[in-house]
Amino acid sequence: MKVELKILINENELKERLKTLGREISEAFNGEKVTAVCILKGAFMFTADLIREMETEVEVEFMRIKSYDGMKKKVDKLLYDVECDIKGKNVLIIDDILDTGGSLKFATKELRKRKPARMKTCVLLEKERKKDFKADFVGFKIPDKFVVGYGLDINELYRDLPYIAVVENNN
Ligand code: 5GP
Repeated sequence: MKVELKILINENELKERLKTLGREISEAFNGEKVTAVCILKGAFMFTADLIREMETEVEVEFMRIKSYDGMKKKVDKLLYDVECDIKGKNVLIIDDILDTGGSLKFATKELRKRKPARMKTCVLLEKERKKDFKADFVGFKIPDKFVVGYGLDINELYRDLPYIAVVENNN
């Protein structure tokens, strides 16, 4: 069955918001060099565009986290780790969407152990629902609906869309 998509945030809105976000983040790090940690796979497109709007030197690293259902609760596992030593660095964790907050909580806990000088988090989207994690920078607050595009997928599809869309039916 074909999935019906309704555009929630268009290309232009993304572009404009990323400009201000890039500036805000650069200021928060006082213009110092930043190590951007992109959480795969969903944040790849956001990261690529965001770092081009930053006014600091940037190095890019990647991290992949897998969530699965354990005996009693969700368990997060590190599938791919950053390749550099982040000790003493300015780290910006970049993720696609904040839903329950589980994966960002895991990523920050993991990276904080390595003693970065400063660590901040940035998400493109934040869903309305209550969560136990607060990101430092949020691109857009959105309703509790399943979204795709601009890096976000359903079964690995739709990551290539240049906009964010709500999935209207997925039967
Ligand atoms: P959290 O750990 O905050 O519950 O969820 C984080 C991850 O779940 C995101 O990085 C993303 O991969 C996935 N996710 C949560 N909501 C959505 C959504 O609406 N669409 C898509 N495609 N993925 C989502």
